[in-house]
Amino acid sequence: MKVTVFGIGYVGLVQAAVLAEVGHEVMCIDVDAKKVENLKNGVIPIFEPGLTPLVKKNYEEGRLQFSTDAEMGVHHGEMQFIAVGTPPDEDGSADLKYVTAVARTIAQHMTSHKVVLDKSTVPVGTADRVRSVMEETLKARGVEIPFDVVSNPEFLKEGAAVSDCMRPERIVIGTDNDDVVDLLRELYEPFNRNHDRMILMDIRSAELTKYAANCMLATKISFMNEISNLAERLGADIEKVRMGIGSDSRIGYSFIYPGCGYGGSCFPKDVQALIRTAQQIGYTPRILQAVEEVNHDQKLKLPEFISRHFGEDLKGKTFALWGLSFKPNTDDMREASSRVLMEALWERGAQVQAYDPEAMDETQRIYGHRSDLKLMGTKEAALQDADALVICTEWQSFRAPDFDAIKKSLKQPVIFDGRNLYDPERLSKRGFVYYAIGRGASI
Ligand code: NAD
Repeated sequence: MKVTVFGIGYVGLVQAAVLAEVGHEVMCIDVDAKKVENLKNGVIPIFEPGLTPLVKKNYEEGRLQFSTDAEMGVHHGEMQFIAVGTPPDEDGSADLKYVTAVARTIAQHMTSHKVVLDKSTVPVGTADRVRSVMEETLKARGVEIPFDVVSNPEFLKEGAAVSDCMRPERIVIGTDNDDVVDLLRELYEPFNRNHDRMILMDIRSAELTKYAANCMLATKISFMNEISNLAERLGADIEKVRMGIGSDSRIGYSFIYPGCGYGGSCFPKDVQALIRTAQQIGYTPRILQAVEEVNHDQKLKLPEFISRHFGEDLKGKTFALWGLSFKPNTDDMREASSRVLMEALWERGAQVQAYDPEAMDETQRIYGHRSDLKLMGTKEAALQDADALVICTEWQSFRAPDFDAIKKSLKQPVIFDGRNLYDPERLSKRGFVYYAIGRGASI
């Protein structure tokens, strides 16, 4: 099938590459000319395991194209995906200007029936808005061309995006037209062989499903962080508690890790957006507000530990920082806990020596102008002559380091661990002062 994808970001590029891999002819359109040029030259704008070879192969074999020519994109596919960003507006609600811009573009150029699939995360009612923007544009052109608007939210996880799109756990389709369902069954058939993963519903339910999923996951994290704060104060160890509750099959082990807060481009923005949606209809979303508040405070946990140990004034101190991305296996630093930490350290006069396996370019892009940040080529180099080590991201390569070498490199054997990677007793025996999240019984 011929497919067009507007927006070549984490979602658009991965989805496009995966659709091309199974044989569809996919044209990707983006307003960022440099990104498009780079992609044509084999430069992939993001780090995502397995993505680079997939994009290169499908581009070389002609099933994947990149362009800034929106008109050509509209003519290419009957399926038109919208996968542009929906960043938070000033009041936290989702800013839909990119989504409506694409809707207008499609209506400006279409000459035959189009199925417009919304992959961006958008508030309930956005499909209606897309439809009315398109109707107005067609009316201004003086033409009547049929089209459908479908909600098809994306559930991929950054860091595992390719495998999530290749083997989705579910394909949520919100539509009011059965003919469209047949087209989408054909489109997604290659991903739907083992068992039927398509969950059909009305458009508004599909739009809300995406927010409900992200808010549920964020709630699990903030809940665990709340319990970790209690554990710290009550002299209990949250890691023991985590295993104790995870063993209950009704609770399960996933997504109950305490830490220095969730970040990324989705959870913070989607929790905020659903809060605004609720407030706009006069409902106070008490749980969601608490989820956001707990997370905000949790990102201040490491700076608090550092003040507890070194005092408020950190002038002349240098901190080794391991982990800059908001989670492992991505270079995405949007809303990352590392940013809150670094900015708090700089405010108090400290220097930072940072290392991340993938997010060094992104850090350079955001903070390259700062003289109080040094980007180091290895995790070992980051430790040299630092006063302490701080960990913000649980990359695999940080899990079993050479503790003797850490001790030798640091001025003081102190570790502030925002991801609970190590055994407190073992570290204490090796002579470290170890701060971790919610481990009152062990530290
Ligand atoms: P992104 O910022 O990585 O990419 C968005 C792309 O859209 C950019 O390349 C931008 O240049 C392009 N764009 C903007 N306006 C355009 C236009 N008029 N025409 C063509 N291209 C345009 O965003 P992302 O992380 O891929 O997220 C996209 C959407 O998917 C968001 O709504 C997000 O909430 C949702 N989502 C993201 C993830 C994730 O893990 N990143 C997962 C599921 C859903």
